[in-house]
Order: sequence, then structure tokens, then C-alpha cells
Amino acid sequence: MGVFAGRTALVTGASRGIGRGIAERLGRDGARVAVHYGSNGAAAKETVAAIESAGGSAFAIGVELGRPGDAEALWEEFDRHADGLDILVNNAGIGSTRPIGEIGDEEYDRVFAVNVKAPFFIVRQGIGRLRDGGRVINVSSGLARTAVMPDNMAYAMTKGALDVFSRDLSKVLGPRGITVNSVAPGIIDTDNTYGLLHGTAGGWEQAAAISALGRVGETADVADVVAFLASDAGRWVTGSWVDATGGSLT
Ligand code: NDP
Repeated sequence: MGVFAGRTALVTGASRGIGRGIAERLGRDGARVAVHYGSNGAAAKETVAAIESAGGSAFAIGVELGRPGDAEALWEEFDRHADGLDILVNNAGIGSTRPIGEIGDEEYDRVFAVNVKAPFFIVRQGIGRLRDGGRVINVSSGLARTAVMPDNMAYAMTKGALDVFSRDLSKVLGPRGITVNSVAPGIIDTDNTYGLLHGTAGGWEQAAAISALGRVGETADVADVVAFLASDAGRWVTGSWVDATGGSLT
């Protein structure tokens, strides 16, 4: 029996990329996984199928985040399938690579709406569903702690805000035995980084060289860290910013 047997997890943005890796990992270890997606229902179905074919249990819920009423809609969908939650992973996020001189109100508001406001209200609306002893894990970014890519400033700011949320929420939920942490990936090979890694000659090699380990990260590299924090073994880690950058900040 897996370490998450009997537990229910919700992973936002689990149709693709890092979220899919996390959902598959939690599912393989016995959690029943709510695979959230925004618009790509076909990809979410693939994640559910992958979990089921590995012997796990999962269901898909589709709600676009970053719009008014998103959190309520997400929990309404969730409630159709499950009656409580043990592990919440706020992973869904979008990038912004426009320099400060070019970014407009709309893009700024959008990246904050999806990356900060949505996780905040998902937690706020979901607090009653989260069982004592549970876990909240927010997917941050190494860019919250380095100015190496200043054109990603607005995006990095969203992750900084998310980290403050993780820190302060840990105090609010601690008395219930619920831990809250940020996990910060470095450059991971996903659709999100396709342009960075494959769009220019030498992009992959340059990205690999940023990590002390000399390679580009894989989704499983982050999923394993999340799985540790979500497990009983991670019970004494809370309010933390966990570096999962493969040594990219050294
Ligand atoms: P991907 O672009 O590969 O996947 C994004 C996921 O989030 C998809 O499942 C997508 O759903 C969902 N999503 C995006 N926008 C919305 C929205 N508005 N409403 C609902 N769902 C949405 O991203 P990654 O896997 O690369 O990134 C995941 C997280 O990791 C993000 O928070 C990102 O900031 C963070 N991160 C990523 C790094 C990297 O190098 N890849 C580095 C550091 C942090 P759908 O399939 O329906 O579009």
C-alpha cells in the first residue's frame, strides 16, 4: 500500500508539465488525485489515464483560474467527486517575460490573478474541506530569489507573493497540524519553457549550465520533493521555501 493510501489530493494545473508529474507521483503512491486543468481537457484525461494505468485513482476537474468566481467553481467541481481533501498543491501558473518598459496593465493583472489571487482564494474557499494533518504546497520559482532574468520581473514578483502566503498561512493552519510550504523549481523541461530551451540555438545547454548538477530539470525532480513534503516524513517542515532548483542559485 502506498504512503498516501486513503488520502485525497488536488493538484492544480495537472494536465501538463510539473503538475502532471506531481499528480502521477501522488497517484502512484496511493492518493486519489483531482487532476485540475484550465482548458486542455484532453491532456487532463491523459494524466488521469496514466494514473489509472499505474493502478491509481484520479478524476479531472476543469476550471479556468484567474477569473472572478474561479475558486468557487473549482470547489463546486471538486465536491462532485470527493468529500474532503488531504493534500492541496497550488501548481497552476503562467509566465510573463515582457520587460518592465513593455508590460501593460492587462498582462500584469493576469499573471497576478492566476499565480497569486487564485491560490489565495482556492485556499480560502477550501479551508473547510482540508482535513487536519493535511498539506498545502505552493509551487513557486527560483526566480523569486534571483534577479538573473529581470525580464521575468512581474512573474518573479508573483512567486515572491506566493512565498509570503506560504509563510504566513503556515501559522494560520499549524494549530490543525497542516503544513504549508513553497517548492521552488529551477528550469524544468515543460511546455512553459519550450521557447527558452528549444527556441534559440544553445538554449538547452545554457539552461543546463545554470544548475550545479549540469542538466535541465525534469518534472519528476520537483514531484519527488513535493511528495516528500506531502508525506508523513515531511511533518516537521512548514513555512519553508524549499529550493528545488538543482543548485541553480548557488
Ligand atoms: P505548463 O505550462 O507546462 O503547464 C501549466 C499547467 O497549468 C497546465 O496544466 C495548465 O492547464 C494550467 N494552467 C495554466 N494557466 C491556467 C489557468 N489560467 N487556469 C487554469 N489552469 C491553468 O507549466 P509548468 O509545468 O512549467 O509550470 C507549473 C508551475 O511551475 C507554474 O506555477 C510555474 O510558474 C512553475 N515553475 C515552472 C518552471 C519551469 O521551468 N517549467 C520553473 C519554476 C516554476 P491547461 O493544460 O488546461 O492549459
